[in-house]
Amino acid sequence: MTEEKDISCILCPNGCDIKIKYLDDEIIEIEGALCPKGNDYAKQEIKNPMRTLTSSVMVEGGDTSLVSVKTDKPVPLEKVMDIMDVIDDLRVKAPVSVGDVILDSPAGLDCSIVATREVKINI
Ligand code: SF4
Repeated sequence: MTEEKDISCILCPNGCDIKIKYLDDEIIEIEGALCPKGNDYAKQEIKNPMRTLTSSVMVEGGDTSLVSVKTDKPVPLEKVMDIMDVIDDLRVKAPVSVGDVILDSPAGLDCSIVATREVKINI
């Protein structure tokens, strides 16, 4: 049976509302995207949704106790909770710089967890 899903494209500030009709993972119709990127995004949302994960990691000896982090590339949505489990157990020592790799291949995925802010040593 054909299913429908309404999504908002997040690729640019236009935020187009896109309606997708699909059967299993076969796309039947896409409406509402103002450009081809939105059609590609809609197809991926049905076949293999991806997200860039953002979170925080505990810092030891820093001027703040947490450092914000993100994956350096989008990861499969179905793996986000696996990565969150790994991030929950992470600890890093200050100092931390923006872009520092906190962990490679979390949950066995081809990505890295990187810092998105600086944390100085607490003196
Ligand atoms: S469909 Fe194209 S124009 Fe619309 S939000 Fe996505 S990228 Fe922007």
